[in-house]
Amino acid sequence: MQLANDPSHGLSVGVVGAGIVGLAVARQLAQARIPVVVFEKEDAVGQHQTGHNSGVVHAGVYYAPGSAKARLTRRGVELLRAYCAERGLPWDERGKLVVARNEAEIVKLRELERRSLANGVPGVRWLDQAAMRELEPDVAGQAALLSPTTAIVDYPAITRCFAEDVASRGGEVLTSTPVTGVRRVGDGVEIATPGGTRRVSRLVICAGLQADLLAAAAGDDAAPEIIPCRGEYLRLRPHARDRVRHLIYPVPDPKYPFLGVHLTPRIGGEVDLGPNAVLALAREGYRRRDVSRDQLARLARSAAFRRLARRNWQAGLREMRGSLSRRAFLAEARTYLPWLEPGDVMPAPTGVRAQAVDPDGSLVDDFRISQIGPVTTVRNAPSPAATASLAIAEHIVSEITPFPGTGR
Ligand SMILES: Cc1cc2nc3c(=O)[nH]c(=O)nc-3n(C[C@H](O)[C@H](O)[C@H](O)COP(=O)(O)OP(=O)(O)OC[C@H]3O[C@@H](n4cnc5c(N)ncnc54)[C@H](O)[C@@H]3O)c2cc1C
Repeated sequence: MQLANDPSHGLSVGVVGAGIVGLAVARQLAQARIPVVVFEKEDAVGQHQTGHNSGVVHAGVYYAPGSAKARLTRRGVELLRAYCAERGLPWDERGKLVVARNEAEIVKLRELERRSLANGVPGVRWLDQAAMRELEPDVAGQAALLSPTTAIVDYPAITRCFAEDVASRGGEVLTSTPVTGVRRVGDGVEIATPGGTRRVSRLVICAGLQADLLAAAAGDDAAPEIIPCRGEYLRLRPHARDRVRHLIYPVPDPKYPFLGVHLTPRIGGEVDLGPNAVLALAREGYRRRDVSRDQLARLARSAAFRRLARRNWQAGLREMRGSLSRRAFLAEARTYLPWLEPGDVMPAPTGVRAQAVDPDGSLVDDFRISQIGPVTTVRNAPSPAATASLAIAEHIVSEITPFPGTGR
């Protein structure tokens, strides 16, 4: 029964996935006093993409003006900065250089400068070679774009704080609770878990690497499919850490939604180099030897994957070479960090990206969120979705709470 002054208007929401996006959504709902329950299959929050990323708060340099990524990243940065300040979480505004290594990259870098200005990225500055060398004497390149407000943070700590906020406002975060089925019943949704079923009026699926499988279970399209891509990192040994202060990125290849092997200081003091992008043979395949028969069978059946592979086999081979040989990986980084030697690095933890692929084999670049009846699914939330998480949550909550005073 709905009470006259019930702020939830009778709404109750389930969220699948306690990564940073799912918990940002749940937190906003709990703040609006809407009953919310989060289902997470792992025994702790933030165990997949959220716990294995580069830790960067992107400022919005790359994204096509007007895209969801461009809008939600700028808003997300402001919300996240305020949140970290409020919760006393670290925020280290290191700044970042995107380095052009040759004339062709200078042309591409000018386009990134144009996008940065259009996206309202604060303080962006073009540096000629001399100005770049003054800031970073150990970086090689012909010119660079400086984004002084790009920051590094601790996303797992932020995610744990989101979970605390949900619980402190009466929401539930159920870990070790995999969602095994989703059924639409009347106006609502029934969610099956090994411990029993729960009924809610709305469901938001933020399941990252499993998003397409859950979306299809909920009656949504099977496409776009998630193709998992492992990203491997190397870590600078302590003696090499202080040679560079900023985050250093190459100019990315505009054909791919990946940023190239970059150098990223981490909030704990480490400095990581990576990630590359190689096909993972399991949805959560963090090691080369992780191979899932189900995933292999899915890839074999997938026309989207075949088209993707046909178009990108050369880039795929290049990345594979970098994966199998540390020398090849270092050779890539040495194009802008010429002093790097094999003895300067050691292996670091890997991450697996949920890369959505459309039926024609194209990589989905922008964020994509679909809605079917009472079920909202985050179909593509790659980088910078950790940066944009609070803005993505604002957007989703305003769509599913069509009554004033709760969506924002
Ligand atoms: C290598 C790498 C580097 C990156 N670097 C950056 C960066 O520097 N900055 C940035 O902004 N972004 C970065 N990203 C992107 C960012 O990490 C992701 O966009 C973000 O973490 C996505 O969050 P999520 O909550 O959607 O997904 P996830 O964190 O993957 O969470 C999904 C959750 O759903 C759960 N789940 C799945 N299926 C079920 C089920 N059936 N039942 C219950 N639970 C389920 C999973 O266990 C998981 O916890 C990077 C990503 C990677 C992989």
